[in-house]
Amino acid sequence: MASVKVKVDRKPMDFAVARAPIWCPGCGDYGILEALRRALAEVGARNEDVVVVSGIGCSSQLPHFMKTYGVHGIHGRILPVATGIKISNPKLTVIGVGGDGDGYGIGLNHLIHAARRNVGVVYIVSNNQVYGLTTGQMSPTTLKGVKTKTTPYGSIDSPVNPLALALSAGATFVARGFSGDVAHLAQIISEALRHRGFALVDVLSPCVTFNRINTYDWFRARVYKLEAVGHDPADFEQAYKRALEWPTLDPYGKIPIGIFYRREDLPAYEEEVAKLLGGKAPIEAPLELSKEKI
Ligand code: SF4
Repeated sequence: MASVKVKVDRKPMDFAVARAPIWCPGCGDYGILEALRRALAEVGARNEDVVVVSGIGCSSQLPHFMKTYGVHGIHGRILPVATGIKISNPKLTVIGVGGDGDGYGIGLNHLIHAARRNVGVVYIVSNNQVYGLTTGQMSPTTLKGVKTKTTPYGSIDSPVNPLALALSAGATFVARGFSGDVAHLAQIISEALRHRGFALVDVLSPCVTFNRINTYDWFRARVYKLEAVGHDPADFEQAYKRALEWPTLDPYGKIPIGIFYRREDLPAYEEEVAKLLGGKAPIEAPLELSKEKI
């Protein structure tokens, strides 16, 4: 179970800092930042119990704008860092935030392993389908046919489907939000924070400067909410079918958002680690006990 301590009267602004974000006006990352603050307030998190870990990219600047602990790490390595923090001190609420290049390109392998281990980290991916920080190259989620600086004739690659991949790898909470619908996204992140084990929250998050195709209007015309069509997040097969809808089956068709899959009966990785240490977290376990088990 995510270790969020209940404290009433928490406000989103309790997680804000005086420093204003430096993203381009209109960037989808503003929506993610606001949704994350709202979600933390909603679950009653205490600032000192939260760690936000990021990689490299525009969205990875997010920990600088949160009044929590933060680690601005290296490219693609959000999940190994977040895993280390979580298993060392499971009482912390550990949140990874980064972009699609970071998480689905260089860091893709870590997504698979974090999912199969069911480590108790909430991983939010700002998916803008382009490398924004480096000024507009194609990313692993760029749709086929889209022109970027590195695909002047249109991409010929099939995009990664992160949701289907995470489900195949064993993720126990898989969701997609849209940064143009902050209230809905905040609800999804709140549920992810309450989840026991690994939670992937992919967020459709327009890069207004370097992606002129996948805009807010483009997404608004396509997204639909899973809860509005009677989707059952406990049904793995149904979740997988929904995950394949976009972008795999129809990259220019309708896009489901909401909680695709959720399973709460499996132990989180940090619980398994603590079992090896006689029920203690590594941060509490005496060194002799740790050695004894090796
Ligand atoms: Fe956001 Fe794109 Fe600007 Fe980066 S370049 S801050 S992703 S709009």
